[in-house]
Amino acid sequence: MPEPTCPKSADVLRIACLRIRLLDIPLVRPHKFSVTTMHTQGVLLIELVTEDGIVGWGEGVVPGGPWWGGESVEGMAALVEHHLAPLTVGQDVLRPEVLARRLESLVAGAPFARAGVEMAAWDAAGRALGVPVHQLLGGAHRDRLPVTWALGAEPADVVAQEAHSLLAEGRHGSFKLKMGAAPAEADVARVRAIADALGGAAPLAVDLNGAWDSHTARRWLPALADAGVHLVEQPLPAADIAGLARLRAQSPVAIMADESLRTPADALRLAAAHAADVLAIKIGKSGGLSAVRRVAAVAEAAGMDCYGGTAIETSLGTAASAHLFCATTPLDAGTELFGPLLLDDDIVTEPVTYQAGQLLLPAGPGFGITIDENKVAKYERR
Ligand code: MG
Repeated sequence: MPEPTCPKSADVLRIACLRIRLLDIPLVRPHKFSVTTMHTQGVLLIELVTEDGIVGWGEGVVPGGPWWGGESVEGMAALVEHHLAPLTVGQDVLRPEVLARRLESLVAGAPFARAGVEMAAWDAAGRALGVPVHQLLGGAHRDRLPVTWALGAEPADVVAQEAHSLLAEGRHGSFKLKMGAAPAEADVARVRAIADALGGAAPLAVDLNGAWDSHTARRWLPALADAGVHLVEQPLPAADIAGLARLRAQSPVAIMADESLRTPADALRLAAAHAADVLAIKIGKSGGLSAVRRVAAVAEAAGMDCYGGTAIETSLGTAASAHLFCATTPLDAGTELFGPLLLDDDIVTEPVTYQAGQLLLPAGPGFGITIDENKVAKYERR
């Protein structure tokens, strides 16, 4: 058996520089959360160039501002420029996970910014080797992903009509509603009206973004289950794992953790507390593709399903998620990779493809996307 060897110098592909640009991309319609509404999506576009001239692309995005996790595209830009870029230049792009752990050990928190840099490294590594990123991750278990659509904040009859049209056209087969912006009683009544109008034609999930307390959740979860809701996402604040566990023990409907889950240690805490049936996994909040794989490993060992979440990415971040989620088990709860459908335009020459409610895994080296410099120039912040 030969001794394992360190990479020979010829196998090392050093990163020469990072270039960042801030973009603002309009949405097709406002996207409402419990505490805020987004009208445009800020994108930190990260261009990584190796000493050999190979380019990889990553994006840092957060769902509509710093309310979700404290990071913003403006903050990410400063952190990348002054700290993450100097830590990245000179590193080997063919070892993205090694780079991710270096950034993790030298920059506490800031997962969305670190994820954007690691994303660019995976793309460049795939391009350098001439293989798609899913192959670098061990290979795809599937070549497409079901995509739940986020219904809007309009009145119940308008939303139900939108859902029926999407079902009839075969564009989506399941839906998610944001809750938490209105008082619970009115909020639940609205969900019930939409569920009644859907008549069980498609699975319906709701996302509270942590807006309820335990008392409110205990009171209203049965009504949501009775209305036909099959999954309730993050009913309680992120830190309340014990409350989530008590709620789940009596809940007539499956519970998904989103804000409560960022790191692999969070996944272990949720598993140990029996606090969630499903984990929403996302590249940004966990600090990159390799960290999500560690989260998914905990989920699988604990018998929890994973759901491929979004921070409203362009086709770039969505393609990265597609490569990761196609190469990840367990992913039985589907995805919400609708970012490019909610954005009014894109920054790539060929946006990712949706077919019959599914996102197709892009082909080609890296993430299989090509950045459109004209679009980048159009949406770059001046
Ligand atoms: Mg969520």
